[in-house]
Amino acid sequence: MKVDFSKNNGLIPVIIQNNETQQVLMLGYMNEEAFQKTQKENIVTFFSRSKNRLWTKGETSRNFLKVVSIKEDCDQDALLIQVIPNGPTCHNGTTSCFATEPQIPFLNELENVIENRISNPSSESYVASLFQKGINKMAQKVGEEAVELVIEAKDDNQDLFIGEAADLLFHYLILLQAKNLKLNDIEQELMRRMKK
Ligand code: AMP
Ligand code: ZN
Ligand code: ZN
Ligand code: ZN
Repeated sequence: MKVDFSKNNGLIPVIIQNNETQQVLMLGYMNEEAFQKTQKENIVTFFSRSKNRLWTKGETSRNFLKVVSIKEDCDQDALLIQVIPNGPTCHNGTTSCFATEPQIPFLNELENVIENRISNPSSESYVASLFQKGINKMAQKVGEEAVELVIEAKDDNQDLFIGEAADLLFHYLILLQAKNLKLNDIEQELMRRMKK
């Protein structure tokens, strides 16, 4: 990736965005050295104008920013870095330095979390372990949860019904992801049918 550091005393602005929620977390600056360190370690390092040195976000708070993707803008003089933050990003203890809310609906956020668990599997992740068992197992879970929902539908315990409905939707999203589909693909199909 070729980045143009020539314009602003060797500094470029870098927008940090949460990869799962799409929330903008903070803005910082990088010089070339900070950019190279960030690419090498996959942890965001800025050039701090107040400290006048390289500053790895989280160096004292441990609230590191783990890099998922780095995108340059149209003329390569600004970056958008998508991250998984390890704790709140602002030194005031808030999730974001800006008073913003996550900008995507919760189900899409959950889809992103599922996708991330599958592409960066960890031993604690239920989603990753289910994914590793293969498509038949994921499909079977959907079947099981559907049957549990059917059973609860016959009863009149609303809370249990909600719980099974949530289980079904969750496993349905995992199965879609395993088939490389998003909820939006299914929405598109339903919309096509509506038009007929
Ligand atoms: P940290 O990098 O999280 O260990 O924080 C170290 C110091 O960097 C803090 O005491 C603040 O001075 C500054 N700092 C931390 N987070 C931010 C931020 N999001 N924006 C601006 N300055 C920050
Ligand atoms: Zn630009
Ligand atoms: Zn802040
Ligand atoms: Zn269940």
